[in-house]
Amino acid sequence: MSIRLENIAKHYGPRARALSPIDLDIREGELIGLLGPSGSGKTTLLRIMAGLESPDRDPAGRIQFGERDVTRVHVRDRRIGFVFQHYALFRHMSVYDNVAFGLTVLPRRERPSSGEIRTRVHRLLEMVQLEQLATRYPAQLSGGQQQRVSLARALALRPEVLLLDEPFGALDAKVRQELRRWLRHLHDELGFTSVFVTHDQEEALELSDRVAVMSNGRIEQIDTPESLYRAPANRFVFEFLGDVNHLEGEVREGVLTCGEARLAVDLPDGAAELLMRPHELALAPAPSAEAHLPMTVTAVSPVGAEVRVELAADWLAEPWLATVRHADFEHLALARGKRLYALPRRWHSFDDDGARPAGRPRLATAG
Ligand code: ADP
Ligand code: MG
Repeated sequence: MSIRLENIAKHYGPRARALSPIDLDIREGELIGLLGPSGSGKTTLLRIMAGLESPDRDPAGRIQFGERDVTRVHVRDRRIGFVFQHYALFRHMSVYDNVAFGLTVLPRRERPSSGEIRTRVHRLLEMVQLEQLATRYPAQLSGGQQQRVSLARALALRPEVLLLDEPFGALDAKVRQELRRWLRHLHDELGFTSVFVTHDQEEALELSDRVAVMSNGRIEQIDTPESLYRAPANRFVFEFLGDVNHLEGEVREGVLTCGEARLAVDLPDGAAELLMRPHELALAPAPSAEAHLPMTVTAVSPVGAEVRVELAADWLAEPWLATVRHADFEHLALARGKRLYALPRRWHSFDDDGARPAGRPRLATAG
C-alpha cells in the first residue's frame, strides 16, 4: 500500500508547532526510516499516519493510502500494525494469546474460525522464532523476545502498513542488530509497507530503502542511505549522519590558516569552515606541501574493522576523530601522546544558510 501525505501540519496549541506542512510519498512495499533528533516531530508524523493524531485543519492536508483518502478515517479502519518502543504486551496472557488477541476480538463476521486463528498464530510464532515459547508469559521473556511478540501481534491482522516507533530503542546493541536484520527479512517476505522512527543514524541507514531526515518539524531530505551520505542537501543532514571534524579559519590567497595550522584550499578569501569525516583524514609522520596540521594523539581504540584515533591540537577547539586501517595504525606506531600530521583527503563546506554550495565538494562559493 502506498502512502501519500500532502500539506500535513501539526500544532499542539497556538504556538507549539510540531510539524511544518509536510509532503511525503511512500511507495508500496518500501521500508522508510524517519530519522531525527528528539523533538523533531518523528512520533507526531507517525501518529498522524496511523490516525492516532489529527493534522491541523488549516492548511487542509490530505493523507492517502493507495487510492483511498484516509484523512478522516478512524485508526481502527486504516488497517495498520503498530509497534512501540515499550512492548505493551498483556502481562496476564501467554505469548500465544497475546498474538491471537487481535483476531479473537474481531466482530464475528470478520473473525477467522478458531482453527484458522490457531494456524495463523503458529505461523507467526514460527516466523519470529518463538514457537517453543508459546505458553510462556511476557515476564518470562527477554526484552528482544518480547519485542518479537509485539511484532507478531502487530502482523496478526495482516496489515498492509506497519508503523514502528523506536521499536528497538530499549534493547541492548547486540539484540538491536539481530532484530533489525530480522525486521528487514520479514518486511521483504511479507511485502507490507513500513515506516519506522529512530534517532539512531546507523540503524536508519542500515535498514531503510529511503531515509527521511527530520529537524524542527520539517523533512530536510529524503533519499536512499547512499545518496544521503554522499550528497547531503545541507549542513544539518551532513552533521547528523555521522561524526564530523571541524576546521575554522581565515583564507588568504588559497591558504586557510588557523593558529599554526595551514591548509591549501580552493576557496575565496575570508572566513571559512571545513567539515571532514573521520575516514577522510589520513595521518602521516610529516606534513605535505598542501597540509600542515600538527596534532597529538589523545586516544586510540583499535576495536573493530578500523582503528579510531582521537586527535587534539592547540589550534583546535574540539578534538578530531580519524579512522585508519590497522596496517596504518601499526606502521605509524600510533599511541597516546604521539605527534603527527593530519592530511585531509577531502572536505566539505556549506554556505551560511547551511545549503551545500554548487559544484564539486571542494569548490565552495562565498557564504
Ligand atoms: P520526536 O518523536 O521526534 O522526538 P515528537 O513528535 O514527539 O518528536 O514531538 C515534536 C514536538 O511536539 C516536540 O516539541 C514535542 O515537545 C511536541 N509535542 C509532542 N507531543 C505533544 C503533545 N501531546 N502536546 C504538546 N506538545 C507535544
Ligand atoms: Mg518520538
